[in-house]
Amino acid sequence: LSDRLTSVLQNLRSKGRLTDADIDSTAREIRIALLEADVALPVVRDFIAQIKQRAKGAEVSAALNPAQQVVKIVNEELIGILGGETRRLQFAKQPPTVIMLAGLQGSGKTTLAGKLARWLRNQNHAPMLVACDLQRPNAVTQLQVVGERAGVPVFAPEPGNGVGDPVDVARRAIEEGKRAQHDVVIIDTAGRLGVDEELMKQAADIRDAVQPDEVLFVVDAMIGQDAVTTAEAFRDGVGFSGVVLTKLDGDARGGAALSVRHVTGQPIMFASNGEKLEDFDAFHPDRMASRILGMGDVLSLIESAEKVFDQEQAQQAAEKLTAGQLTLEDFLEQMLAVRKMGPIGNLLGMLPGGAQMKDAAANIDDKHLDRLQAIIRGMTPAERADPKIINASRRARIANGSGVRVAEVNDLVNRFFEARKMMQQMAGRFGFGGGGGMSR
Ligand code: GDP
Ligand code: MG
Repeated sequence: LSDRLTSVLQNLRSKGRLTDADIDSTAREIRIALLEADVALPVVRDFIAQIKQRAKGAEVSAALNPAQQVVKIVNEELIGILGGETRRLQFAKQPPTVIMLAGLQGSGKTTLAGKLARWLRNQNHAPMLVACDLQRPNAVTQLQVVGERAGVPVFAPEPGNGVGDPVDVARRAIEEGKRAQHDVVIIDTAGRLGVDEELMKQAADIRDAVQPDEVLFVVDAMIGQDAVTTAEAFRDGVGFSGVVLTKLDGDARGGAALSVRHVTGQPIMFASNGEKLEDFDAFHPDRMASRILGMGDVLSLIESAEKVFDQEQAQQAAEKLTAGQLTLEDFLEQMLAVRKMGPIGNLLGMLPGGAQMKDAAANIDDKHLDRLQAIIRGMTPAERADPKIINASRRARIANGSGVRVAEVNDLVNRFFEARKMMQQMAGRFGFGGGGGMSR
């Protein structure tokens, strides 16, 4: 795939603008990549349609060629669908917080119970595990072993009582959790190899009995295309508030993540990537997006292209700045740039007098920047290019036009002159007015 894709990308690279045909041919490759990652077909269709829509309306960035632009859009869209930022566990106001695990047999529920318990314990919680898988003879013992490794107590039915009732066990476990002051109770449930009604009913009964704060659907990333039907069955049969992907240490490309997320809309919260208890982490949408696309190289290329572009822009501004040709337009851009990227801000911080400017930029929040922008937009081009001409009556006009007080306009203009003077002095002292001095 990668070779094929690379050649398409190269074809695109020579052109200046993205045509519909370009988007279509890249979309075809993306489609193949998704299918190879085992994303379910209907999900692929929807996703591709969405991408085409966005790519057609997209502005072409000066930093990237059109091909990179398309891949960037695809990647962003994937990250967005996979959940943007990771969602955290919802803790109950009144402990214990009850977390119930559901999923097919072998999906990794019991292992996850131990991982989650250990993870919570490391965050100063006091979890307890509950064995509600009474289906398989050794399931309880397995959870007990896992609990011991995690250093967490396990609530299980007394042996020798025949097959217990999982609903009853769950109910008693919550009481015990309260009594022993466990703030989190994690309920491990039974699973079957395939979806069946009895299993769903049992899970639903446990759910009704304990009213969990979170039901986590545990799904094996290797399940591939079946992820959609399984997720739908658990959504309809039990309902869940979050998803955990397991066995990500395998060679699965992770298409299941996209499928489950797309079909159920529930967030993927954790990722399990090994048999050991510590092989566990919060879910990272960006990593998963890159894994599904299988274009790590292309993505890092895009990232560095954008970085270089930012640096070039900053350097251009710095050169103007040190030559005393700084305009208000540049000033605003510079403010935005200092906030956005570390390098120039850090560099300023190391210079005498520069620390203040860096701090000033760091203290400006987006709202403030919006106001600065409004003020500068309220100036005529001549005023922006040569702020010296901005006299009192012009200031009043600008303030009026941009909806701020005159004092704010004064403040901006004064700060601008200070910054320009400071930069000229620094340039004189350190001699980085000319060539590429700014880029380290
Ligand atoms: P359950 O039936 O849903 O409770 O699943 P188990 O927790 O018993 O796990 C089934 C098998 O998968 C066991 O052999 C686990 O060791 C293994 N397993 C679980 N999670 C992972 C994982 O993230 N990576 C790998 N490689 N194996 C896992
Ligand atoms: Mg189990």
